[in-house]
Amino acid sequence: MEKRDEDWMREAVRLAVDEKGTDPANTPIAALVVRDGRFVASGVNRTAEHCDPTAHAEIEALRAAGKALGDMRMEGATLYTTLQPCGMCTMASIWAGVSRIVYGAGRDDVHEMYFEDRHLSTLDFVADAYKDDLQLEGGVLTAQCAPLYYGPDDDVPEDQQAND
Ligand SMILES: [Zn+2]
Repeated sequence: MEKRDEDWMREAVRLAVDEKGTDPANTPIAALVVRDGRFVASGVNRTAEHCDPTAHAEIEALRAAGKALGDMRMEGATLYTTLQPCGMCTMASIWAGVSRIVYGAGRDDVHEMYFEDRHLSTLDFVADAYKDDLQLEGGVLTAQCAPLYYGPDDDVPEDQQAND
């Protein structure tokens, strides 16, 4: 039976927890690239480990997917991510030609430090890029994804606020 969004997201959550645990301080964010109902590649956030501000889970997954497919274009692919993608990852998905982005926790479910600015939304980003062939859908297994991150009202230590 073909896997549904919830099944893929469950795999993403499992990957995030297996690789990074459940402490928000370790940024347990994971992403999967799936095409034609089949797993292509995955990635987890490695910004701290690699001293690389671009090593978001989605970028790691897109890089691995490009290698796996032997092609930087991945039309028809779905990017599953446990947290709503930032502007960088949304833009990378546009360059990759990803057809759908499905995310778990949305920006209202987590602390504002996960996003560049409260006035920049990835939804607007896609709309402003005049992309009508990229769907963004949130709310898949939000209850499992959101607790992995700092909540909207959590008192996050200053040195962990990546966007500060
Ligand atoms: Zn990102």
